[in-house]
Amino acid sequence: MMDFELNDVQELVRKTFRDFVEKEVKPQAQAIDENKEFPMKLFKKVGDLGFFGMRYPKSAGGTEFDILSYCLAVIELAKGSLSLAVVCTMQSLMATFFLYKYGDEEVRVFFNQALKGEKIGGICMTEPNAGSDLNSIRTKAKVFEDHFLLSGQKTWVTSAPVADFFTVFAKTDNHEKLSIFFVPTHLEGVQIGKAIEKLGVRGSVTSEVAFDEVKLPKNYLLGKIGGGTDSLREILAEIRIMTAALAIGVATAAFEEAVEYAKTRVQFGRPIGKFQAVRLKVADMAVQLETARHYVFYAASLSDKDLPRQKESMIAKLYASECANSICDIASRIFASYGYAMEYPIQRYLRDARFTLIGGGTSEILGINIGRELGL
Ligand SMILES: Cc1cc2nc3c(=O)[nH]c(=O)nc-3n(C[C@H](O)[C@H](O)[C@H](O)COP(=O)(O)OP(=O)(O)OC[C@H]3O[C@@H](n4cnc5c(N)ncnc54)[C@H](O)[C@@H]3O)c2cc1C
Repeated sequence: MMDFELNDVQELVRKTFRDFVEKEVKPQAQAIDENKEFPMKLFKKVGDLGFFGMRYPKSAGGTEFDILSYCLAVIELAKGSLSLAVVCTMQSLMATFFLYKYGDEEVRVFFNQALKGEKIGGICMTEPNAGSDLNSIRTKAKVFEDHFLLSGQKTWVTSAPVADFFTVFAKTDNHEKLSIFFVPTHLEGVQIGKAIEKLGVRGSVTSEVAFDEVKLPKNYLLGKIGGGTDSLREILAEIRIMTAALAIGVATAAFEEAVEYAKTRVQFGRPIGKFQAVRLKVADMAVQLETARHYVFYAASLSDKDLPRQKESMIAKLYASECANSICDIASRIFASYGYAMEYPIQRYLRDARFTLIGGGTSEILGINIGRELGL
């Protein structure tokens, strides 16, 4: 058995983010959802806490924490507002990783500003006809002697309406495999579409993005031509563990509130938690939450020890996201009509948790890949 006793640093990270979320995020969470606007002020405050640099070395301007500490911070943020947690995790991993890994001095200026929350980034992989199947991406970069011309259509780009730069997956006209480009949004030919109306994580604004012959200097290629899929693989396990932590966060909020409600809501002369049917529901939630959380910590600890973790990160993501949706569903049943009222947060958890089934790979895609890891 792995020992998940947290060390002093990890305890401090958890406390710092827990206190921040209690004081600053929870009172705003409903408004973030209702306003459907990027939570700019809180985003900046999360930046001030050093969150965006947690997974980068101090030598690169980061705050350099292990992934278990990062997961603890993600769980706390997601407990308060999954919308806020989604935009912050996007900024801290996907939007910035390739700039850190492959950016030259000019690109690294954006990276450094992004770590402080002064610039906002997004990742453009998905297209109207390319979701799970990234190899079918059609966005093209024509190769010229001293520049590229980027054209194509992206969709579901988190933070696009407020973004200063994108990391864009495309195919060059001289290679069949994916390449990655850095694209500042102020360049001519970058068009941001209107925000997509969503079921959940509504404060994490998302929209279509079009590139119309956007001229990119050669140094905006991140990594090698055709090296995009391999570069993505470097961070995939971490994205999945992070998405699993998002799921644990929202599930924990639903669980804790359901337990409290079961203790205080009185029907037929006693708290509803005294009825066996309700108690079994709470126990079912506890079993799912504890097992999922421990597995996510286990996957994170493998990563921190630099041990193989591809399969484990997929199991963590699949299991935690499915459990989170089940837990939010059970919480909604315990709250009954109050779980159905927009005034209370249970409906938001239920809607928000759906996102964790999609981001970082659907359960079907993860299941297929877990099978492949098992030699099938
Ligand atoms: C809120 C939100 C934010 C997002 N943010 C971003 C972002 O910032 N950047 C970005 O690039 N993308 C983003 N996405 C897009 C997300 O990554 C894709 O939605 C995801 O990859 C799935 O693609 P799809 O929705 O096109 O579904 P599809 O790939 O079309 O899948 C549809 C269904 O078919 C199943 N399926 C597909 N292929 C197979 C197969 N081989 N075997 C079995 N079943 C299969 C899937 O599991 C799913 O159930 C976001 C999505 C959401 C909802």
